[in-house]
Amino acid sequence: QTGGIADCIFCKIAAGEIPTRKVYEDDAVLAFHDVNPKAEVHFLLIPKQHVVSLAHCSADDEAMLGQLMLLVPRLAAEQGLSNGFKTAINTGRGGGQEVFHLHVHVYACRIDWPCY
Ligand code: 5GP
Ligand code: ZN
Repeated sequence: QTGGIADCIFCKIAAGEIPTRKVYEDDAVLAFHDVNPKAEVHFLLIPKQHVVSLAHCSADDEAMLGQLMLLVPRLAAEQGLSNGFKTAINTGRGGGQEVFHLHVHVYACRIDWPCY
């Protein structure tokens, strides 16, 4: 294990220990296609550093959160989502979070799951 916490699947992805279809990568952030897409285009943005959820962020995470948010429209455009997209951050079990490493979902609208 080269980084991140044990048994965190997104830390393993960030460390390159589990293969993914990469969308974007820099020193702090990784974006990759969701393995079980809810739409034709569905990718996730994560900080490489392990952060459990949005509810676990503090002022120290402002720059990371800003970087994630600003990457969303840029990567969405690069993935061809020119007609708009949906952005979701599931937080906690009650919020539908299943992987407890902060991630931003970005996906295309679907007729049975409209964005508006
Ligand atoms: P959550 O419900 O926690 O917001 O969403 C977790 C997302 O991660 C799900 O959409 C799920 O399909 C995706 N996911 C879980 N494990 C993997 C994986 O190993 N690789 C990829 N690419 N996506 C994953
Ligand atoms: Zn992690």
